[in-house]
Amino acid sequence: MNFHILTLFPEMIDEAMNKSIIGRAIENNTISLETVNIRDFSTNKHKKVDDYTYGGGAGMLMQAQPVYDAWMSVNEKVSSNSDGNSKSQKVRTIYVTPQGTPFNQNMAKDFSKEENLVIICGHYEGIDERVLEETVTDYVSIGDYVLTGGELAAMIIVDAVSRLVPGVLHNDISAETESFHNNLLEYPQYSRPKVWMEKEVPQVLLTGDSKKIAEWRLQESVKRTKERRMDLYEKYEELQKCKAVMLKQKLIHIDMIELINRGRAELIYLKDNEILLKDLLSDVYFHTDLSDEAHEKILEGMPEYELDKIKCLVIHQNENVGKIQKLIRLNDVVECYQAVYTLKEKLAVSSLYNVDNSPTKDGLVIKPVELSDYEKVKSNYKSYDGIEYVERRLSEGAFTGAYVNGKLAGFIGRHGEGSIGMLCVLPEYRNKKIAMALETYLINKELEEGMIPYGQVCLDNVPSLNLQKKLGLYMSKKSIFWLSE
Ligand code: SAM
Repeated sequence: MNFHILTLFPEMIDEAMNKSIIGRAIENNTISLETVNIRDFSTNKHKKVDDYTYGGGAGMLMQAQPVYDAWMSVNEKVSSNSDGNSKSQKVRTIYVTPQGTPFNQNMAKDFSKEENLVIICGHYEGIDERVLEETVTDYVSIGDYVLTGGELAAMIIVDAVSRLVPGVLHNDISAETESFHNNLLEYPQYSRPKVWMEKEVPQVLLTGDSKKIAEWRLQESVKRTKERRMDLYEKYEELQKCKAVMLKQKLIHIDMIELINRGRAELIYLKDNEILLKDLLSDVYFHTDLSDEAHEKILEGMPEYELDKIKCLVIHQNENVGKIQKLIRLNDVVECYQAVYTLKEKLAVSSLYNVDNSPTKDGLVIKPVELSDYEKVKSNYKSYDGIEYVERRLSEGAFTGAYVNGKLAGFIGRHGEGSIGMLCVLPEYRNKKIAMALETYLINKELEEGMIPYGQVCLDNVPSLNLQKKLGLYMSKKSIFWLSE
């Protein structure tokens, strides 16, 4: 991901951002940070960039021309194809301003999906309105107070967005479960010593009982959020209400339940048991089937701006698929069953693979797919979503491989919205329980991470349906439908 910051004070940003985690991410090219000095683009012989405001009033205003030319220099560079042809669209451009939408974690997630992000920093009384109209796609405020310039605001955005770029925090796929803690503030934390100023660390944290500790932490998080951030607590409560409704038909709604559990669900609407959620990370929308007449009015009441944004919708009822498709112009349909691992206990690994990562007697090791095998994965797995999707998931570290004597024998992955899938065993390694080993590995890993493992199996994929049954996963009786462009 590339940040481009347009500013009158580039040194402020360059000096502050080359430290710690962000500094390291820049050094190893996981992100790049370019500062563009707006003054360099001034056509004034004294390199002046500001002037008095029309109509009078205190203070100076940054003029349109240098800001525009600085922005154009970036836009032209990043909006060109590799063959030099200009793509007509504007690069995503934020103007940091106290008049913008308050910045939050969801916006950070949204920005982190961009390849290039431009941030314009104002100074003095701000910037001539006309250049903002020409260049800006998002107006963002970091809070209800006025700073002297936009540099601090820009750095806050770069920091929060960078943490969500794969590789910056070095914890690969588990970063996907991170959230603004499911609309909850974090629980209190303690380090050594056990007693300080006669205050003791809560007893439960010393028990080593991970289940009890998790329960205590959740309880404290809820309590703290209710005390300090009623606005967040209300969102949390609303999603819990949705979850309670969906738990009445757990198997068919497991994808939506897990979105909530994993802290990645945004509630678009809840109406008489009818729920529309959006996955904050993958932008996939999910719709329930709980009210009798839900299919009749599936999109009624959905805000119009949401309708236009939907590129992928998962519906949990099969009546009127065609009608919905027409309404939102999603032509592709994939029908699947949900396969859910409902137990809390891990699957028996027995002789499938060694948990200590040492090779089995057949030379099998399970580990992340290596960079040198990305091409093999791409040529062996044909995704409904195309090769770009597989490439993206590979770069996000979503694939686990089975290696036999050092050679890739098969792989499994986690889809962008959280389901287990993309399972494939290379032809020469079939009938050796490699698929079973891979899925067992991933199910156990997800259980350790506190998730309910689930996958979605196409109706005609008999080998996969058989494997799910063998592993003890429950299949939904009804199917769900993935609609996409
Ligand atoms: N006259 C402007 C107004 O009332 O909206 C305020 C200008 S402020 C003194 C100078 C610059 O600091 C702004 O152009 C903006 O880029 C930045 N800035 C100030 N406060 C900010 C905030 N809360 N969030 C984001 N940027 C801010």
